[in-house]
Amino acid sequence: MLHVLVIDDNKADRALVIRELKREFAQIEIQEILDEKELAAALTAKQFNAVVTDYDLRWTNGLNILRTVKQLYPYCPVIMFTGTGSEEIAVEAMKSGLDDYVLKSQSKYIKLPISLRIAIERLENRRSSELLEIRLRRLLNQLQIGTFRANSNGNYIESNTVFLKLLGIDNLAQLQTRDVLNIREYYSMLEKLPEPQQELEIELQRPDGTLVWVALSITLNEIDGQKVLDGLIEDITARKQVEIERQQLNSILEQRVIERTAELEATNRTLDETNQKLVMANQDLETFTYSVSHDLRSPLRAIQGFGTILQNQQLEPERQKKYLQRIIISSQSAFRLIDDLLEYSRISRSELPLRLIDLSSVVAEVLMQLESTIQQRQATVQVEEPLPQVIGNYTILIQIISNLVNNAIKFVAPQVKPVVRIYAERTFNNKIRLWIEDNGIGIAQNYQERIFTVFTRLHSNDEYPGTGIGLAIVRKGAERLGALVGVESQPGQGSRFWIEFSAEC
Ligand code: ADP
Repeated sequence: MLHVLVIDDNKADRALVIRELKREFAQIEIQEILDEKELAAALTAKQFNAVVTDYDLRWTNGLNILRTVKQLYPYCPVIMFTGTGSEEIAVEAMKSGLDDYVLKSQSKYIKLPISLRIAIERLENRRSSELLEIRLRRLLNQLQIGTFRANSNGNYIESNTVFLKLLGIDNLAQLQTRDVLNIREYYSMLEKLPEPQQELEIELQRPDGTLVWVALSITLNEIDGQKVLDGLIEDITARKQVEIERQQLNSILEQRVIERTAELEATNRTLDETNQKLVMANQDLETFTYSVSHDLRSPLRAIQGFGTILQNQQLEPERQKKYLQRIIISSQSAFRLIDDLLEYSRISRSELPLRLIDLSSVVAEVLMQLESTIQQRQATVQVEEPLPQVIGNYTILIQIISNLVNNAIKFVAPQVKPVVRIYAERTFNNKIRLWIEDNGIGIAQNYQERIFTVFTRLHSNDEYPGTGIGLAIVRKGAERLGALVGVESQPGQGSRFWIEFSAEC
């Protein structure tokens, strides 16, 4: 129901106004005001939604009424309906908040209710937009979303409390001196964009030094012909923290996967290597068995052959003696072969305590053991002292060096007196090499590796007796000490065998 105060001294005019209003509004209640007292009572009772007043009144004028009403009820629509008011009055009245000004002429009567309707609708719009704004503000506060507006100079015009709280400031004035958000930069950035709108996630430092991650949404708007920057800001520190933690967790997991994969690959490699070793060991074993049976067969065959001859044939004593001697020599070589094989097997398997060994004393011991051979062959052995200390095993070192010196004396051309030189040197990569150099027959390049395998012999037993196991023992022994062995040689130019120790003191 619409309640309207109609203020006019002229009864006919009042009737006119009332008729027009009733024609337009079905639900309307009109109160006629005839003097100051009635007006005062109506204002106090406040049972009206709009006022239609004449300008010329006996007891006051329309302007005063307008001011009085607007003072008490600023939103209440007031329409002035007059036949006498001048243009200045109209301007003055509009300034004071008059909603419309309608002239009292026959043709304009009809305008009055329309003006009132427009004024009422405007009021309703205003009310609902105010309500909307209140609700929006409340909502933003509840959602903890900060709002702000800045002008084209980058100065803040308004904000809500959430915004101030988020930025850690008490009032906007504080931001004019120290703009945490750097709004001027955003302003000029947005001005350059075809669509002046941006969503950003940034980390801010509050005046107290604390850091906060915020989601910032900014837009350039135009309000009453003025460009303004409107922004929404939300604290996303907690989400960012979760994100950062998740990233860290991911990279830890990735690292673990990489490590685990590497571990598995390493295990696989070890398994492969072990398999390879097993395959090789099997192959070694096969060749080994084959060689053992082959090499043992020849002395046994000789024993068997000469034995059969002695058994079946009547030979003169000289011949018998010769054959018996061949049998003894063959059985000796079979024994030697078996002894050497046992030695090779022992060196491959036995427990080896490693300690610091003085090479000088090892070499001295070897030369003592070989003394009679050296004398027999009229060999000269030169030891270039001092020899260093190495990590090794005394018994194995005796065995290795003894085999090498023995070979150095043995594999010499007939009529040549063996000359052996034993010395040590430090290699470029800080290892120690013990050299055993001879003036012997030398070894062709393509045999220099093969001679270290079991039963490889380059000469017949008649030329140079042996079992073909000596150098295999040397290599196996060196392996057990973590050392390497090799040879440098040329046929007819002598040989230089070396043992390289990785650990030295
Ligand atoms: P063996 O001495 O019983 O024949 P080795 O294993 O000690 O067996 O040596 C294998 C082969 O290597 C020898 O038969 C020989 O042909 C060659 N060899 C070893 N040492 C020397 C050396 N110092 N000079 C020349 N040839 C050598």
